[in-house]
Amino acid sequence: MKLTLGGTPMVRSLTRIAAALALLLSTAVIGLVGTAAPASADGCYTWSRTLAQGSSGSDVRQLQIRVSGYPAYGAVLALDGSYGPATKAAVKRFQQAYGLTADGIAGPQTYSKLYALQDNDCTPANFSYGELNRCNSSWSGGAVSASTAKANALVTMWKLQALRHALGDRAIYVNSGFRSYSCNSAVGGSSNSRHLYGDAADLAAGSHGFCTIAKRARYHGFNMILGPGYPNHNDHVHLAAPSSRYWSASTCGI
Ligand SMILES: [Zn+2]
Repeated sequence: MKLTLGGTPMVRSLTRIAAALALLLSTAVIGLVGTAAPASADGCYTWSRTLAQGSSGSDVRQLQIRVSGYPAYGAVLALDGSYGPATKAAVKRFQQAYGLTADGIAGPQTYSKLYALQDNDCTPANFSYGELNRCNSSWSGGAVSASTAKANALVTMWKLQALRHALGDRAIYVNSGFRSYSCNSAVGGSSNSRHLYGDAADLAAGSHGFCTIAKRARYHGFNMILGPGYPNHNDHVHLAAPSSRYWSASTCGI
């Protein structure tokens, strides 16, 4: 949301503002203001059209990343750039979570909320790349390329933001996120740990307690949940998104 003064971010912001103004003017001229995309621009990413079921493209994928924390219970939203029923339902849940008109269509209201939630580096307001990577600054040395690890962490952060909001917008602490192989062995992580892929986050109990976090995480796109009762997970909840579901936190009834 914040516009950075000086440097590339400002230039990008100005470009987006110009693009948004042009769009606003063109839509005003043809009298479609009611369905026009938002005039506001954002330092991270600005949508230039309203998206709905049937839409496809990279702008749909950008939307999917930001609503990835709103799949159905136990589900993971595909980030495929195709606005199908699952994306519509996720948008609807996001809208409901923030008290917007819940129509499953991504227009000005939805974009404004997303702009308010995202920082200039596209991370959600309450999480940062630094918090998700206490291992190295390059995101390299893991099981995937640095760019993939960083992209995976971004999606995880949007899921964490949804989880945080569902738990009353109180702080959630990430103790460990991405790990290179050397960082992973240093902390005794398993050799095929999701931390090597960048999509894992180990959470502290904070004010919620482990079981509240572990149980609620089932609704926010984490198909890997390890918590109290699972070996070596009595002091944190491990959340990640591998290709298949694995939940185990027997103390919490999961
Ligand atoms: Zn972990």
